[in-house]
Amino acid sequence: MSVSEFQLIQRYFSSLGQSRGDVILGIGDDCALLRPRPEEALAVSIDTLVEGVHFSPGDDPESLGHKALAVNLSDLAACGAEPAWATLAIALPGVNTERLQWLAGFASGFDALARRYGVSLVGGDTTRGALSITVQVHGFVPDALALRRDGAREGDGIYLSGMVGDAALALRRRQGVDIGGGDFSDLEARLHRPEPRLALGSQLRGVATAAIDVSDGLAADLGHILERSGVGATLDLSALPLSPIVAAFVTRHDDWALPLSGGDDYELCFTASNQHRARLAQLGCHRIGRVTAEPGLRCLRPDGEIFAPLVSGYEHFRHD
Ligand code: ADP
Ligand code: MG
Repeated sequence: MSVSEFQLIQRYFSSLGQSRGDVILGIGDDCALLRPRPEEALAVSIDTLVEGVHFSPGDDPESLGHKALAVNLSDLAACGAEPAWATLAIALPGVNTERLQWLAGFASGFDALARRYGVSLVGGDTTRGALSITVQVHGFVPDALALRRDGAREGDGIYLSGMVGDAALALRRRQGVDIGGGDFSDLEARLHRPEPRLALGSQLRGVATAAIDVSDGLAADLGHILERSGVGATLDLSALPLSPIVAAFVTRHDDWALPLSGGDDYELCFTASNQHRARLAQLGCHRIGRVTAEPGLRCLRPDGEIFAPLVSGYEHFRHD
């Protein structure tokens, strides 16, 4: 099979996402030339997905294209930023017919999500190597309105934009854990096709005192807000938004670690003062606890007992 690097770029990556007026020069030159907004901060985030670590060889390439961009857009959402541009560095073990099909699927998943949020793919790098995908995203947010991790204050409510534990349960099922019978398509979608909470992120400008997206597990990610803000929290586990299938699993196995430390949820966790409580409920956000002056994270189980979650979450270098 002879397909050159340049043919690959041309065929699969040259026109992904939406074309934008602020792209002076896109793919095909030494640099992309981009016009940032003069009065706003440029928000930048990057994430890598490595085969065997973040995804498996048999995973659907279209979902992977979606997820590689979605996890980055989720970071922009957590900053309250509006996405604009993306770059993509991809390492491929080789090129055969199967790999070309894989690339077509990957590109189509990436393209569909990019178009939905007005993102343009403006550059990247294509090399030979163990399969890995790195996406960087760039967006805009007015400096003073950017959502950060360090602004939570005692008395603030703690909110979640949606359910936690679905992706972790889908992963357990895939690892062979018996989670009972039923239709698992929603659960699988939560793992493979996360939806970045971009609309909510921009609505939280000027409302949330601190925010983060939940990628490594609620306890660990909320822990980052608490640490950076110099505060603690009490969570009411009976207020955690759980899908029926996760709620049943938690009850059956008494396993609160699943929703608290599972990860891959890509919901927003944020804090806000109580004056915004009604508005946040209208936006579909769930109030799950409150910020305390006393440091540390205390979780109250529905039976009134305290549960101490593993706050370390997923840590790549834990076993080194
Ligand atoms: P250079 O050698 O100057 O770095 P490359 O040959 O790596 O340029 O890339 C040629 C053009 O294609 C550049 O504009 C680069 O940004 C773009 N490009 C390369 N790989 C990708 C990719 N995977 N996705 C998007 N654009 C890419
Ligand atoms: Mg290059």
